[in-house]
Amino acid sequence: MDYCSALKEVLKHNIVWIEAQSCSGETVMILRSGCEGLEELFFHSSPVKFISLVCEEKSGREILEKILEMTDYILVVEGAIPSNDSLCTFGGYSCTQVIKLLAERANSIIAVGSCAVNGGILREAGSKGVREIINSKKVLEVPGCPASPQMIVAMIYSALGENHGS
Ligand code: SF4
Repeated sequence: MDYCSALKEVLKHNIVWIEAQSCSGETVMILRSGCEGLEELFFHSSPVKFISLVCEEKSGREILEKILEMTDYILVVEGAIPSNDSLCTFGGYSCTQVIKLLAERANSIIAVGSCAVNGGILREAGSKGVREIINSKKVLEVPGCPASPQMIVAMIYSALGENHGS
């Protein structure tokens, strides 16, 4: 299967993709992959739920509450988690709270990019990676700055296969 086919296959599944303290590098790399119809699929037509600080006003608490009720999904985290909760909030929740709540119900958790893996360039400022706030579940990691979109898609694809026992 080629990369675009694998990406489109992945986007048919429930994925909650959250941008914490991020420059959106991983999202941009995925969207720039040149696969036809990808933007529409990523933002509008697929089960993928995209939560970003940038679009917080648009999404807000109401949509976030609906996402927090979801089950049977893969959680993808892009960006670092600041130690100061006021630096990263969605709909009245801190990034840490949202990620912990989403992680509880997620079938798999994937940290994409070095910021999500270990705080990356923001580590010096006290930011952390996903694994440092989620102790009770395995966190899969795709390092890199930005992380390779092929590796991200391969990791999600593999997690989907594990969850469905193949
Ligand atoms: S790992 Fe690099 S590309 Fe990804 S959010 Fe951090 S700074 Fe941006």
